[in-house]
Amino acid sequence: MATYTCKYCGYQTNSPRDAGMNCNNSPHKHHEWMNATEKLDKYTCKYCGYQTNNPRDANMHCHNSPHKKHEWLG
Ligand SMILES: [Zn+2]
Ligand SMILES: [Zn+2]
Repeated sequence: MATYTCKYCGYQTNSPRDAGMNCNNSPHKHHEWMNATEKLDKYTCKYCGYQTNNPRDANMHCHNSPHKKHEWLG
């Protein structure tokens, strides 16, 4: 089954329609899915290069990001 991951907060779901749900980290206030539709071994921040196996680390502070949180590549 496909897994959708929000690039702004790391929320994961099997239901792509959850994109309509509120996302506190997103500039447009809704989840936005990464292109990858599976769980990854590693998530990389597009602004600072931080890497982790926990997508929820998107909620951590990022010095380089315009919205002050990590944002996942891909
Ligand atoms: Zn989100
Ligand atoms: Zn970052």
